[in-house]
Amino acid sequence: MADDPQKPENTNTPANPEKVPPTTPPTPETPPAPPPGYDRVEQTGVFQMLWDCKYCNTKKLLGVTHKFCPNCGSAQDATARYFPSDEEAIAVEDHEYTGADKKCGNCGTPNAAKAEFCIQCGSPMKDAKSVAMRSEQTTAEGTQFGADSKSAAKTDFEAQKSGIPTTPPEPPKSKKWWIIGGSVAAAAVIGLVASFFVTSTVDVRVDGHSWEKRVAIEAYKPRVETSWCDAKPFNAYSITTRREVRSYNQVADGETCNNVRVDRGNGTFSTEKRCKTKYKKEPVYDSKCYYKVDRWGPERDIVAKGTLKETPAWPAVNIRTGNCLGCERESGRSETFSLALTQVKKADKKHNCSYKEAQWRSIPDGAVKKIKVRLIGGAKCETLQ
Ligand SMILES: [Zn+2]
Ligand SMILES: [Zn+2]
Repeated sequence: MADDPQKPENTNTPANPEKVPPTTPPTPETPPAPPPGYDRVEQTGVFQMLWDCKYCNTKKLLGVTHKFCPNCGSAQDATARYFPSDEEAIAVEDHEYTGADKKCGNCGTPNAAKAEFCIQCGSPMKDAKSVAMRSEQTTAEGTQFGADSKSAAKTDFEAQKSGIPTTPPEPPKSKKWWIIGGSVAAAAVIGLVASFFVTSTVDVRVDGHSWEKRVAIEAYKPRVETSWCDAKPFNAYSITTRREVRSYNQVADGETCNNVRVDRGNGTFSTEKRCKTKYKKEPVYDSKCYYKVDRWGPERDIVAKGTLKETPAWPAVNIRTGNCLGCERESGRSETFSLALTQVKKADKKHNCSYKEAQWRSIPDGAVKKIKVRLIGGAKCETLQ
């Protein structure tokens, strides 16, 4: 934590901030920024890595205490460092962290980052590279870390070199059935769309003419409506109110945590608790109003119908106009001129097509015409000729 840039701001800083010694001591442990995917990280300790001597096969030597094998005197092998079990972990107190060890370019011995000459062979350490570091190990809170060893370290370093992630990827889920199912569904959709566009031309006979003229009528009368009470109309009456769920708030509800071991590259590792906040939905209630309100709204249609024999005419509209309760008004007129068509070769296939009045009138009953029909059924009325 040397030279921590996150030192707390001194709020009493005078106007000229030049070289004023901080009046409050910097907090020793400023919580580091949580890694992506987590909301909080907590340092839980620093411990010694273990290593095995490859010359005399002494096991579980300590990463800080045993820079040399106490049995045969060989220098520590940085590539043989591994994490101890939770029971075996030995805490490191007040061990200044100056960075990951550097590997002597001459003899390969790991040296402290600040070393100027190799502790083993005396070569200058100026251009030495940092030792490789073990991948982070993560386990859910309350569960043990997996056992680690010199051979696991070897596997880890080899994987890092080859670029393969050390955490095994999610076991491949059976995607095959999704692919097959998806293909079948896609084919069905394509088939349906295609059959809508695919048409064939058939002969149809004109069996009859009909027309219809329709006047839509609205009425002004009490209507039952509902809305949030803060949005109810000013002229609402017969109001009843109920408490109902209007929205949901996301409320923090504990956290899920992982324990992580992070190799510091100098024979020690730190442990961290990384946590992600859990949220739950909490309903927010509000007043819902149920009421009546006098409004215009669709009421009925007045319709006149006929065939070629009758002259098309709008129906008589006898309504009580005004703004009284129960008063009515027109809200639109529409007309259709339809031909009843029967396929010549398939008498059970009947179609009803609407045209402009002039075209409708120009085609006589009994005439045989050509028209396109869709594969899924239904005539394309505009293709009649
Ligand atoms: Zn040894
Ligand atoms: Zn050396």
